[in-house]
Amino acid sequence: MSAVHELDLLTVGAGGGAYPAAFLLARAGLRVVMVDPKGVMSGNCLAEGCVPSKAIREMAAHRARQQKFSSWGLPGEIAVNYPGIVAHKDSVQKERYDQHAREMAELPGLRLVAGRARFLDSHTVVVEGERGEERFHARSIIVASGSDIVRPDFPGSDLFLDSRDVFALNPTLTERPASLVIVGGGYIGLETATMFRALGTEVTLIEKGPQVLSGMDTAMVRELCALLDPGIRILTNASVLKAEKTESGLTLSYQIGAGPPEVVRAERGMVAVGRRPVVPEGFQSIGGEVTSRGIVADLSCQTSIPHIYATGDVNGIAPLFHAAVRQSLVAAHNILAGGRTVDAFNPAAVPVTVFTLPEAAWVGIVPDEARRRGIPFVNARYDFAEDSRAQILGESGGGITLLFEPGSLRLLGGTVVGVDAASLVGEIGLAVAGRLTARDLAHFPDQHPMAAEGIGKAARSLV
Ligand code: ADP
Repeated sequence: MSAVHELDLLTVGAGGGAYPAAFLLARAGLRVVMVDPKGVMSGNCLAEGCVPSKAIREMAAHRARQQKFSSWGLPGEIAVNYPGIVAHKDSVQKERYDQHAREMAELPGLRLVAGRARFLDSHTVVVEGERGEERFHARSIIVASGSDIVRPDFPGSDLFLDSRDVFALNPTLTERPASLVIVGGGYIGLETATMFRALGTEVTLIEKGPQVLSGMDTAMVRELCALLDPGIRILTNASVLKAEKTESGLTLSYQIGAGPPEVVRAERGMVAVGRRPVVPEGFQSIGGEVTSRGIVADLSCQTSIPHIYATGDVNGIAPLFHAAVRQSLVAAHNILAGGRTVDAFNPAAVPVTVFTLPEAAWVGIVPDEARRRGIPFVNARYDFAEDSRAQILGESGGGITLLFEPGSLRLLGGTVVGVDAASLVGEIGLAVAGRLTARDLAHFPDQHPMAAEGIGKAARSLV
């Protein structure tokens, strides 16, 4: 049997839920090991998620904007060199991996073991890695094993790409398809639809529910859908029957409701029907509690086993990289305090953006949720039609909706659809986290001519 390494902290995974804690504790002089089969830091976000998808998306957005500017004197049509776009995406991923390698090198006490961790008991983890089998006995463990792509299993689904094929380093998809059918109208499906449409691809999106972005605020989704490129064919209430290979690509049969089978042809297909938590082997056998949402953890990130914490996508609380990073630090602070809860994650102030073209974003309590939970609110609205930056860019659809608590006028949350939504929601989120009121927002001289002016203008309608 292999020797057992004694540790203060072991992290299962080396993504956003793991490495901030690993670094913090290693800097404090503790013995820390991260385990991840990728053998590199940053998890799925950098490998195939946020960063590479935004690298492609920003170029698509630039092309769409340039086309709009052509009517105001700039050259319009930009030819798309998709291999060049992929090369840029890959170079960003490599640049960040190099950066992380340097950060790791600065902390020689911190080791990253390439392999998959399996629990033997609540303090012991075994890894089959490059050095053979290694065992680790850790006083505290953070499970940050993230989530993985769910692949649907309709006949012919193996013909379809998934987000990994499109966004991973050296991806399978290296040429822009002339036509693309996407199964799944969640945020990944819809973001990919809008970016490929902006690159000139004919896009059809098949969604089985009555609206895309199911579960998100209906008013926000309606506002966004009205602004999407009408060239994207969105089919809702559509169930997939089967897919078949053709000479030029594939056909996908589907039916709308109980209607007759219909067919869409495309050069390529992509499935984006969701992600599911990845629970490490052995975790349940040692008494760890798991539901369909993932590992059960409270807001101190502690699981049912007190010295084991679960952070990031695997606990299903807020499956987003930035939430994982915050939870990682919460777990680290509580571990440093000897298991006492000295820090807790605040799920009420996590900004979320759907990086479609244009963007939709929200933070805190949104109208649907307020109504569902019986939370009273007054709302304030700012339309981008009156916004100078939106007018400058010719993107004057959408706007900012803010929800305040009646009486105190404390900011509860808000939605933004349209120009700069991803940035604006950060400022709104900070105000929610800081418990600011409409009066605070109204008195802040936000910059002109930037869309953030709208936050103060909306607030001023209430004070
Ligand atoms: P998060 O942002 O929630 O930390 P990510 O999905 O970005 O999640 O990262 C999770 C990482 O965990 C991935 O890189 C994945 O390879 C790794 N992982 C998954 N299962 C295991 C396991 N059993 N042992 C070690 N690492 C794992």
